[in-house]
Amino acid sequence: MSQPVLLCYHAVSSSWPASVAISESALESQLAFFRRRGYVGLTFAEAERARLEGTLPNRCLVVTFDDGFVSTLRAGPILADLGFPATVFVVTHFTETGEPLCWPGIEEWLAGEHADEMVPLSWSQLGELRDRGWEVASHTVSHTYLPGLSDADLRSELRLSRMTIEERLGACETVAYPYGRADERVAAAAAEVGYLAGCAFTPLYGIDERYRRCRIGLTARDRGWRLRAKVSPGTFAWRRSRVGTRVDRMRLRYRERRYGTYFRDQSTRLASALEPEPRSADAENPPP
Ligand SMILES: [Zn+2]
Repeated sequence: MSQPVLLCYHAVSSSWPASVAISESALESQLAFFRRRGYVGLTFAEAERARLEGTLPNRCLVVTFDDGFVSTLRAGPILADLGFPATVFVVTHFTETGEPLCWPGIEEWLAGEHADEMVPLSWSQLGELRDRGWEVASHTVSHTYLPGLSDADLRSELRLSRMTIEERLGACETVAYPYGRADERVAAAAAEVGYLAGCAFTPLYGIDERYRRCRIGLTARDRGWRLRAKVSPGTFAWRRSRVGTRVDRMRLRYRERRYGTYFRDQSTRLASALEPEPRSADAENPPP
């Protein structure tokens, strides 16, 4: 069966010089590349269902946005013009409270001229995206490094975020793991709490399975030959080969040596975020 191409973006901004942001023009040019080649756009859940039913289109594109930055809205008209839907993975603690998005890796942007970029999408904005054919899915409750959590906290992160999105918007079928990381225990927990599928990230570690789908992260530099190379079937095949897998494992070990303590330390910040606060059914987002 053919493999869908899963793209991973975060914020959409021409003025924010952060690694998580891509400009509207770069986004438009990358997605137009797929449109010209006849790719059919599906949400992540639609693509997973099509895989299960054996009805996946030959050339299938899944566009995903992690984190729920309010600037994701800027992608709406671009995707609509090209006829592609998208999936946005939101961190429910921030969507519920309206607090600026904040976790290791983006904290430096909380103050200063780009602080507005950290505003999360609201439920009403997410409802509008859903009504335009987007999928709204989980990026957990608090954006923590899931492999570092206890079994109970891991299940809470996955289950409570899913329940919250279901209550607010009627459905939550899939999950993207913060930092793209999910070991076997995390993947099993996602299946256990009822998700249809889960998204990891590159590097692939040789794994591409229903609860750990790999995605390609594109930046503004990915144009022309670089974009073609990054999304080509040959690149996928190489990364799943024995050598490609070995290289990815070396990268993973390096990253975990470098960031392991950093991620584990963050896990302890979760206790309060995981305590669901009582709220009335019709409560709106408080202002950020
Ligand atoms: Zn994220």
